[in-house]
Amino acid sequence: MNIFPDKIQNIIGSEEKEPTTQQFLDNVNPHDGSIINQYARSNESDLLEAVAVAKEAQKIWASFTPVKRGQMLYDLCVKMKERQEIIARIVVAETGKSMKMALGETGGAIAVGQFFAGEGQRLFGRTLTSGVPNKSAMTVRKPVGIAGLIVPANTPIANVAWKVFPALICGNAVILKSSEDAPGTSWIVAKLALEVGLPPGILNVVHGLGLEIGEPLVKHPDVGVISFTGSTQVGKRIAVLAGERLATVSLELGGKNPLVVCDDADLDKALDWTLLSAFSNAGQRCASGSRIVVFEAVYEKFKSMLIEATQKLVMGIGDDDDFGPVINKKQLENMLSAVNSAEQKGAIVLTGGKRSEMPEHKNGYYMCPTILENVALDDEISQSELFGPITILCKAKNYDDALSIANHSDYGLTSSIHTTNFNRAIHFTQNVRAGVSVVNGGTFGSEPHFPFGGVKNSGNGTREPGTEALDIYSVLKAIHFNLSSDKLN
Ligand code: NAD
Repeated sequence: MNIFPDKIQNIIGSEEKEPTTQQFLDNVNPHDGSIINQYARSNESDLLEAVAVAKEAQKIWASFTPVKRGQMLYDLCVKMKERQEIIARIVVAETGKSMKMALGETGGAIAVGQFFAGEGQRLFGRTLTSGVPNKSAMTVRKPVGIAGLIVPANTPIANVAWKVFPALICGNAVILKSSEDAPGTSWIVAKLALEVGLPPGILNVVHGLGLEIGEPLVKHPDVGVISFTGSTQVGKRIAVLAGERLATVSLELGGKNPLVVCDDADLDKALDWTLLSAFSNAGQRCASGSRIVVFEAVYEKFKSMLIEATQKLVMGIGDDDDFGPVINKKQLENMLSAVNSAEQKGAIVLTGGKRSEMPEHKNGYYMCPTILENVALDDEISQSELFGPITILCKAKNYDDALSIANHSDYGLTSSIHTTNFNRAIHFTQNVRAGVSVVNGGTFGSEPHFPFGGVKNSGNGTREPGTEALDIYSVLKAIHFNLSSDKLN
């Protein structure tokens, strides 16, 4: 198998297919701005072909028992494990992460695959009681048909696994629209699926731009479920388009997640989790800790601890470095301009606020870890997601104030509180408006069997992964049995 070809083609059925446009876009390494290779610039014609192929393949795939589908997906996991280093190398090149991070992320993706492969043995419905004598009933899960999956690049192999495995175990065929910034990561999973003998056409990958190939996928009448992870702005557009034809939609969107440090917190632990939440993966996590809410009583102390530790963070692609570049030039420019406008409105940059000036980062997209303070709760910088290593410090008078600041956002993805007070911990986790709430930890992190997702502008209420993801990719059918007692003898 060609590990990283000069041209990354679409995969439709069993074939690598040149896009009908015959055009390709540059796949750029964010660490040094070099061009790794090129990827297909697809459009609606490619999508129509993928849908036709997926439709036929889905009939075969759905005819297999869920147990058999699970066994085949397990084979894919084994292959991914065998090729873990190669997958990780692609992730490193496309995202500028360290090999250690990329291997960890690939391991996490495989664990998600194994979880859903096992669900083939547990694709449960329910048995129902009935008020009618001699009647019994049950629900069974049926595939939706074709699943259109759209992913971003921040944790590319995990993003792919979170969607592909639950969609496939439920008996759907998949059309995966890769991220412009990480096309190779989607491509390799489909290549490995063919290698282990998954039926051609059940995992198709199309590359290209959101408007040119993503939107046709969202609009196509034969694509019964759309699962999207990305920005709130695009998610809202997808909700409208898919809503017009009543397709099932799952939206996993942005966040502006609060991490609260109380006056009774273990400040050293709170510091470690703040650094990881705000800056690991260059802050490119939907779940990053982008608002650090600190009690007045410990504010100055925690602020100096945080500035000192942040200034020691090392950027680069080495395993010992703390984080790498942001994904592309446009994102870097957006961040610089957001910090600049915040400063003009009175924000104080405590550290960072600029791109790295290290000679080895000259051509890469490195944003220095940035902490801002003196921002109002309704300022643009407090409300909008920057998706980079930038966080803001907010001062809270007391617990009630901290909770109210935490909830002062249109987003509601994750949240964290650092406290040794049991009452605060319980009250916060129950009352913060977020899909995930953590005590004495980071704002990020999940496990294959944990449902993840947000409220408000962070999503539409669906959850991936966990068994809850099965609800996105299957439809429930209620089956009623009426017995004729006079026919028993
Ligand atoms: P993005 O919304 O710009 O793009 C995401 C994907 O959508 C890409 O593949 C893109 O090509 C595609 N796309 C863009 N426009 C489209 C359209 N009109 N129709 C169909 N598809 C379209 O997001 P991004 O900048 O790549 O990713 C960062 C965002 O993703 C952040 O907001 C982050 O919070 C979010 N995210 C959320 C989660 C979660 O689980 N909630 C996880 C990771 C990332």
